[in-house]
Amino acid sequence: MEKETVKEYSNGKLTIIWKPEKCIHAAICVKTLPKVYNPKAKPWLSIDNASTEELQAQILKCPSGALSCYMNNT
Ligand code: SF4
Repeated sequence: MEKETVKEYSNGKLTIIWKPEKCIHAAICVKTLPKVYNPKAKPWLSIDNASTEELQAQILKCPSGALSCYMNNT
């Protein structure tokens, strides 16, 4: 089995886990928080452009499980 790519982005409170191979490109993340997710930027994810609460609410809506997150203090 090939090793899955996993990237992590943290704002100090919340860490976003990004698994690009799982993404089905529904672009819900990009439409919901365009300041955070920009497929043309590198890195494509700017975690500091939304609050922890906004990020959590959006990540729950990712249909593929490509985006997930955990609180750093748990
Ligand atoms: S919402 Fe999830 S599945 Fe859709 S583009 Fe974003 S990461 Fe990919």
